[in-house]
Amino acid sequence: MNQRQLFLQHIAQTSPAPLALEIIKAKGALLTDRQGKTYIDLIAGISVCNVGHCHPKVVKAIRKQAGEYLHVLVYGELVETPQVAYASYLAEHLPASLNSVYFTNSGAEATEGAMKLAKRVTGRTRIIAFNQSYHGSTQGALSLIGDEYWRNAYRPLLPDILHLNYNDAAVLEEINHLTACVILETVQAEKGVHAPDPAWLQQVQQRCKETGTLLIMDEIQTGFGRTGYLWGFQAYGVVPDILLLGKALGGGMPLGAFVADKALMDHFTLNPVLGHITTFGGHPVSCAAGLAAMKVLIKEKWIQQVPEKEALFRELLQHPAITNLRAAGLLIAVEFESFAVNKQVIDYCIEKALLTDWFLFGANCLRIAPPLSISKKEIRKACRIILDAIDAQGL
Ligand code: PLP
Repeated sequence: MNQRQLFLQHIAQTSPAPLALEIIKAKGALLTDRQGKTYIDLIAGISVCNVGHCHPKVVKAIRKQAGEYLHVLVYGELVETPQVAYASYLAEHLPASLNSVYFTNSGAEATEGAMKLAKRVTGRTRIIAFNQSYHGSTQGALSLIGDEYWRNAYRPLLPDILHLNYNDAAVLEEINHLTACVILETVQAEKGVHAPDPAWLQQVQQRCKETGTLLIMDEIQTGFGRTGYLWGFQAYGVVPDILLLGKALGGGMPLGAFVADKALMDHFTLNPVLGHITTFGGHPVSCAAGLAAMKVLIKEKWIQQVPEKEALFRELLQHPAITNLRAAGLLIAVEFESFAVNKQVIDYCIEKALLTDWFLFGANCLRIAPPLSISKKEIRKACRIILDAIDAQGL
């Protein structure tokens, strides 16, 4: 059997048509497959590789930590220098109330931990989540998914979750003294990049404050400069009670986190103790990689370049077949009239060495979320391929 056949046989499949490209090298915004074809990466491992693939400083930090120690004990017992250094650095770059970091294995686990923390802090059970939102695929996080197609097969789900419409004033009336938390994405990514109305978001926060409800903001996709701010919430004049991080947090290594004030987080220490348990969460190599990546991100000033790169995509991607283009920095949805059209465009792009895909709840939208380090030359080349792909469909 060749590699592709072994992949199909022995790697558990979740799609009838996986891309099945065999990437053997990744650098910056480029991916090279076994046949030597080099792709421009427009999706960055789904908003993970914000500083590009295999940044030398990230690789160096991984090698250094791997030479010192790997796993030593379950989460939270030992002083692990890479965890402490990264948590301190994150706290320096966050508002003062977000000062205590619980490192997890993944974004979904961060969601789970945050829901549990909200229940512990408030003593309440009700959770408000949003239609077309995505917070992860574990059973609890999946109960929050705002789409019946994706959650229905897994019933019974977590009880007491209300799914409401994002940006809808009616939400304010539903937040009351029974609500443990409101959980929302700062920008609804998988819906196809839908940003909140700032006034609405501020009112949600205000209503949360009035009722003692915790506001959880999921920045797993929007964090680390993706929207042109280090944290997406900075654009909206709100600060969450609990912040969810993942994806770019680990600089290409697996890592998630939920971040809150120490006074909230301390609820996990008593009655019962060990409020959240993980063996590998906050793995030292992941923390070393994440810290190195965050330092690179800040030093290289790629976040400051996001608006001009977003503008370049907007300027170049003009075509009658593009029915809409929504962007929050370098998180961009290029909308077509149908999934069928989008799929043809995507397939052509991949054929021509440009890697892109669609969104979970926005299948008619082509995803652009490249490494923030992508060059303007690469952006121009990528847009040329997308426009050629559209023309090649005779659209
Ligand atoms: N939240 C958001 C907004 C996401 O986009 C994702 C993943 O795509 C998650 C949570 C879940 O993260 P993970 O896949 O690391 O569990």
